[in-house]
Amino acid sequence: MLGGQIRTATVAGHLVDMGAEAVHTGAPGMSALISELGLTDELITSNPSKSWIWTQRGLRSLPAGVGPAGPQRLLPILNSGMMSIGGLVRAGLEPLVPRRDIGSDIAVGQFIGQRFGHEVVERFVDPVLGSLHSGDVNRLSLRAIAPDIATVADARGSLILERRVRQNGPTMSFATFANGLTTVVQRVLADTEIEIQTSTSINSIKKMSDGRYELEATNGLVREADAIVLAVPAMIAADLIRSLSQNAAEMLGHVRYASVATAVVAYPQALITKVRALTGTGLLVPSSRRRLLKAATFLSTKWPHLIDPTYALVRFSSGRVGEQEIDNLDDAALVARLHSDMQDATGIAVKPAEYHVQRWPAAIPQLEVGHLELVAKIRSDLEGHQGLALAGASYDGLGIAACVRSGERAALLCLAAFD
Ligand SMILES: Cc1cc2nc3c(=O)[nH]c(=O)nc-3n(C[C@H](O)[C@H](O)[C@H](O)COP(=O)(O)OP(=O)(O)OC[C@H]3O[C@@H](n4cnc5c(N)ncnc54)[C@H](O)[C@@H]3O)c2cc1C
Repeated sequence: MLGGQIRTATVAGHLVDMGAEAVHTGAPGMSALISELGLTDELITSNPSKSWIWTQRGLRSLPAGVGPAGPQRLLPILNSGMMSIGGLVRAGLEPLVPRRDIGSDIAVGQFIGQRFGHEVVERFVDPVLGSLHSGDVNRLSLRAIAPDIATVADARGSLILERRVRQNGPTMSFATFANGLTTVVQRVLADTEIEIQTSTSINSIKKMSDGRYELEATNGLVREADAIVLAVPAMIAADLIRSLSQNAAEMLGHVRYASVATAVVAYPQALITKVRALTGTGLLVPSSRRRLLKAATFLSTKWPHLIDPTYALVRFSSGRVGEQEIDNLDDAALVARLHSDMQDATGIAVKPAEYHVQRWPAAIPQLEVGHLELVAKIRSDLEGHQGLALAGASYDGLGIAACVRSGERAALLCLAAFD
């Protein structure tokens, strides 16, 4: 199927995304692509509202400045009502904490823990970054998933003091389209004469004596190619390139994956008017709560085009690295468990009237400590194979914007093979 982790389904008459749900329009290259595709006027921006964190003491607002790049401001964290007195004092000392060399890499949780104390990691970094990457913040790479923070760390700066003078990076702005993100996939392919084969997989790549490649698909199709972009997960790329480089294949095998599942449910609007949580755009669940629900997005609050007088659409996310529980539940049981967590978090009493479940087995690459170095080594190992490029989240980072940049880089590498 085209789009990979971009896929829509219909729930209560609405087209909703079951994989990637929003693009960060401020990310480098993203708005340029949208504009090139003529889609700028069709962008729908998410409603500004607050997200919740489900703490031991109930729902609390996610403090300003805690985003996908980690915590960038201290005061909102200190004022969040989510820290113990000891934790507050420890976090407030960040500008005074001696700045250590982070060397080639460090886990994001370890680094933030050293600067702000473990409470900030457990209460803010884990629910935001851990949830986004379906991973363990004590293994995820600072350099790969929070490069802005790594830059400050390399300069031996204080995250808080640096933030005051830098007003860091592009503003976070998330957007989608009325028919979901498949709009981008369809528009990329519109008016091209590219021949596309779906419902078949490549199962072998061989190098021919003239340096070109021969690809064989599971349906028996054999094609010769001057250049190949392997936009597949690392474990699949490993199998495909083993005959070209055993060493690169082994290194590719080191990338771990988390299996995740999403469920979009429709709650009858009339019966949930008193659920205060639904005034926010979603909630995050720290892993320390040991719930199946990892995050919920309140789609009908977040997106103007999904407001519906009859149903409130909510998207549940589940699945973290190493967890197998979702695989043991059928769709109905999975939705029941996720709804039950939602009920405990928000007090919602009514059951979903409709749902759709999408499973994403081994979908989220774990960009763990040393990831950038590992990928650089793999690429360097493959340098002798002209016109062979790796692209996608497994190599260059999670998210559509990172994949767009990764794809562009791969295309340039392939073009260079023809010079
Ligand atoms: C539930 C979920 C929510 C997400 N939310 C967001 C979000 O809101 N915003 C955001 O920016 N990102 C989000 N992401 C992340 C983003 O979707 C991914 O990082 C990105 O789409 C990954 O793209 P990719 O090309 O690396 O991999 P994929 O999209 O997985 O594509 C790999 C492709 O390779 C194909 N393939 C596999 N094996 C073979 C083979 N042997 N031969 C041929 N083809 C093969 C697969 O069929 C697939 O189409 C989300 C991801 C998930 C799972």
